[in-house]
Amino acid sequence: MAFEPVIGLEIHAQLLTVSKIFCGCSTAFGAPPNTHVCPVCLGLPGALPVLNRTAVDFAIRAALALGCTIQNTSIFARKNYFYPDLPKGYQISQYEQPLAIDGAVELAGRDGPRRVGIIRVHLEEDAGKSLHEGFSDSDRKTSIDYNRSGVPLIEIVTHPDLRSAAAAAEFFTRLRETLVWLGVNDGNMEEGSLRCDANVSVREDASRPFGTKAEVKNLNSFRFLQKALEHEIERQMTVLKEGGRVVQETRLWDAAAGRTLSMRSKEEAHDYRYFPEPDLPPAVVDAARIAAIRATMPELPEARRRRLAEQHALPDYDVAQLTQSRALADYFEATVAAGAPAKPASNWIMGEVARTLKALGRGIEDSPVPPDRLAALIALVDRGTISGSIAKDVFEKMLASGRTADDIVAADGLTQIDDEPQIVALIGEVLGRHADAVAQYRSGRTATLGFLVGQVMKATAGKANPKRVNDLLKKALVEDASGNRVIG
Ligand code: ADP
Ligand code: ZN
Ligand code: MG
Repeated sequence: MAFEPVIGLEIHAQLLTVSKIFCGCSTAFGAPPNTHVCPVCLGLPGALPVLNRTAVDFAIRAALALGCTIQNTSIFARKNYFYPDLPKGYQISQYEQPLAIDGAVELAGRDGPRRVGIIRVHLEEDAGKSLHEGFSDSDRKTSIDYNRSGVPLIEIVTHPDLRSAAAAAEFFTRLRETLVWLGVNDGNMEEGSLRCDANVSVREDASRPFGTKAEVKNLNSFRFLQKALEHEIERQMTVLKEGGRVVQETRLWDAAAGRTLSMRSKEEAHDYRYFPEPDLPPAVVDAARIAAIRATMPELPEARRRRLAEQHALPDYDVAQLTQSRALADYFEATVAAGAPAKPASNWIMGEVARTLKALGRGIEDSPVPPDRLAALIALVDRGTISGSIAKDVFEKMLASGRTADDIVAADGLTQIDDEPQIVALIGEVLGRHADAVAQYRSGRTATLGFLVGQVMKATAGKANPKRVNDLLKKALVEDASGNRVIG
């Protein structure tokens, strides 16, 4: 039997607002526990929520990128359940009328392109965080940090359109890239800014109705998502092959044990008794606001990759590297706009610039060498004013001093030596000093050429045009001073 997995994802993404969704408290991660709290996010009686406009704008931005329709009116609802990290006894979420519906994402897919439908994107608040300490019954204790309580989230729910663990991981990767690219989420899965629950079922073949699904929670990395799904698909297939039935339940991924564990069955599932939130009016988003947000949307990663490949004739590898972030792609295009040819610009950015930023622990937006200055350096190499290896030294000096490439080349006398008589004279001196190497070359051990090139370059402090040195040196080695060939 060839079972087919069926997967739908529910993703929670923290929005990158400065303040929380219904109060003015900071959303900053890592503050001392319970320092970013107020009566609203602590759920104290009588405190009233006020909707954060930027949170709605960010949610709209994300929903538009996912091809969703933004609903003119959406309704906040109370999702009622008891848990210590939820002091109000309910979470403010959206239920019957979410912010956005009916989107889709196109996946490239290793086994062909695949369209993944988005059912809905809705806004909700995060809960606090329980911190469990101690392992034995006697010393076990739980503390709660409410700093996260009221941090804005979007929940993105896909149709059950995914057909493999790898496709689910690919979707999640693409979604993360898009949200980070849009500037609405920081993509930090270790800090819980992006979390994924996976619904999965298997069926005997694609013509049958969907099977009973299990929901796997707690998947905070791409690898865990894929591993957990692979394991869960295997588990369900075994159950069916043995003539059993999959029960609808929530399962937890146990990363250490490498398996999913039953957490609660459908019978124990919560009845959240959703009802409209009486303390908040419906969120009304008019067409003008949506149009204004649409107007500020950046070109999305896939489109950008296609355009970079076409417009600048770059290899796929370069395109993938340069679109690691929107800022990096912007930096590359600014360098080209300032006059650098595309491929050398790409090489510099993937090489020296990336290395420097890594060493400094900075992002490209804080690069000490702005794109126009990099372009000016590349232009010096392109015109033959300096050699590629001198350019690397110049780049180091630009970093250390903040001076321009032109300044450094002029002040330090680094202009490339390209003058044929000057190079020929130098070669003559070097060959005179290394008669043994010359003899070796002429007797067929041509590997000594590299040594001799090195000697000439050294004599010019690296400033000679290496290609010209190479050519002239070869010529000098096969001819004597009067131009007669000395070897075949
Ligand atoms: P529920 O009512 O149990 O919450 P929903 O229909 O709201 O279920 O779907 C929740 C998530 O489960 C969605 O991501 C959806 O794509 C996915 N899903 C629904 N049915 C199945 C199924 N049979 N197999 C796998 N995933 C499913
Ligand atoms: Zn607050
Ligand atoms: Mg549901």
